[in-house]
Amino acid sequence: MSIVKTPINRYLSLVSALGIISFLFLNDFKQHSTMEWIMISAITGSILLLNHYTILLPPKGNSLSMDSSIYLASLFLFGVHFTLNVLIIHSIIFAATQRKIVWWKHLFNFSIYSLMISGAYYSFILTGGHIGNVHIENILSYVISLSVYFMINVLLIGIYFILDASESLVEVFNGVIKETIATYLSTLMLSLVLVILMQTEELLGIFLFTCISFLLSLAFKQHFQLFKDISEKANKDFLTGLNNHGYFKELLEKELAVAKESEQPLSVALLDIDDFKKYNDLYGHIQGDYLLEKFGAILKAETEAKNYTVARYGGEEFSIFMPNTNRKQAFTFMNELRKKANDTYFKGVEGLPYGCLSFSAGIAQCEKETYNISELLNKADKAMYAAKDQGKNLVQVFNEHSDYSIGRSLSLEKDLEEAEQQLKIFLSKDVYTYRHSKRVYQYAVDFSRTLGLSDHERKTLILGALIHDIGKIEIPRDILNKKGKLDSHEWEMMKKHVTWGKEIISTNKKLDDLIPLVELHHERYDGFGYPYGLAGKSIPKLARILCVIDSFDAMTTERPYQKTKTYNEAMVELRDCSGKQFDPRFVEPFINMIKQLYDVKEEEKSKLVAVNG
Ligand code: GH3
Ligand code: MG
Ligand code: MG
Repeated sequence: MSIVKTPINRYLSLVSALGIISFLFLNDFKQHSTMEWIMISAITGSILLLNHYTILLPPKGNSLSMDSSIYLASLFLFGVHFTLNVLIIHSIIFAATQRKIVWWKHLFNFSIYSLMISGAYYSFILTGGHIGNVHIENILSYVISLSVYFMINVLLIGIYFILDASESLVEVFNGVIKETIATYLSTLMLSLVLVILMQTEELLGIFLFTCISFLLSLAFKQHFQLFKDISEKANKDFLTGLNNHGYFKELLEKELAVAKESEQPLSVALLDIDDFKKYNDLYGHIQGDYLLEKFGAILKAETEAKNYTVARYGGEEFSIFMPNTNRKQAFTFMNELRKKANDTYFKGVEGLPYGCLSFSAGIAQCEKETYNISELLNKADKAMYAAKDQGKNLVQVFNEHSDYSIGRSLSLEKDLEEAEQQLKIFLSKDVYTYRHSKRVYQYAVDFSRTLGLSDHERKTLILGALIHDIGKIEIPRDILNKKGKLDSHEWEMMKKHVTWGKEIISTNKKLDDLIPLVELHHERYDGFGYPYGLAGKSIPKLARILCVIDSFDAMTTERPYQKTKTYNEAMVELRDCSGKQFDPRFVEPFINMIKQLYDVKEEEKSKLVAVNG
């Protein structure tokens, strides 16, 4: 063992010492008869074999060994000296054949088994169990004995993982208990089955048990291999062998959480082969497939070298995510990749406009405010289309201040018109929401100008302000128009409008940018909002801005159950809630804008109330 006395080393020493003491204390080293030695050898051989032929369990491939069933059966039938002798012989042979495992691990393992066997033995005897043949009246003792065996195991291994700091206390116990309880119950039953078998025919019993376990191990191995093959196939693209779209997103989702947690950069790239349709037209789809395969292999090799993850995103589109990589490094990498594609000869590429294989790519880096992978992929997608627009064979990095909508989506006026059409439904159902939306929209127009947002952000904020409450369409009229406070059930339903709103606008890809505004305008800066309880900069900037505007309008307009605030009172309220409900960055600028636009003097207790409508 290492000389450094860290807590984990002390723990290993302590367990090893206890294990050896319990072994020496319980084992009287009495002479065994020849028949007993034969049995000890047979049982040891069986444990050695079954430790090798374990039962592999999907999904993680945890392996279940039958050795505990054999130790327990041996304990119940032949007693503790016999079983400890099996343990020591097994441990010596195992250590001699597995020299790659460091010696203290062998010792620790032996000690744990020694303590488990000793614990199981004492609890069996103390609860009235009789060594020898299986008796139904012993059943409670069997169960208690197994439970002690199980608990010692969980405790000793659990403490090791906790000291190793690889897992927390709760994680260890949840994991162990969930994963092993069924295993241990079957261990007990199998051990009793083995006792019954050996009680009639000692050697034949252990032989039959070993054969069955061995065959089961082989069957489970095949079954596990099948499971692995199928789950791999489900995650892979058939043509290129790269990850497929769905699996890529699953991995990216995890990576995004890691990047946010560790505050490490993460970049994503989408790339689309240029003029691939032309290639297909010139040489046919089979040749096209062949090119995709070859190109996929290059992507795989280049990304693997950097520990990046690549996928076939769709037809001739690929995606890559790059952990610990900022947009600049991602740009360098993607440009090298582009050059590599240009410089590699693929059959027939001379027929393409650039005379070589080329692609256009877009890169986006995860920001603190990035709230999900769709937002990140959307940005990369926009940058990629910008690269196409600028003549292809190019890599573009997403930039907040560029207006990617030019030439790709309809103008703001057209979008506004469409959004307003959708809103008109509120005219008959809930005229308050209709008018509120239009006022919030007007504030957004004015405020976005004051804030100096980029064109793209302005458009997003203005459109988002107009349709932020669209999800209220789903809420029954009697709740929307209730004259009086909502009860808790009605309030819960009201809160769902953000999620329903998101679902409604998600059906139109053009409105993707508005999703954070619709879904997150009720999040609070201090993290006590809904639907997710996001806090600070985890809430996208435009949603934080909309929250201020939306609340100001709600305060200053009349609702049946709520006293209307004057502009002055509402401004005081905004300040009171600055840093709690609202991002302080936007409170003063908004108040200043209101003061200027509506000529409100601060001290003056003006009774200027917004006109409803
Ligand atoms: P751009 O430079 O604008 O990307 O032009 P493009 O021709 O590459 O793009 P477009 O989206 O017009 O066409 C993509 C083509 O990719 C159309 C389709 O036939 C082809 N394609 C998609 N999937 C496969 C596939 O699995 N095999 C083959 N051979 N072709 C595919
Ligand atoms: Mg394409
Ligand atoms: Mg293409």
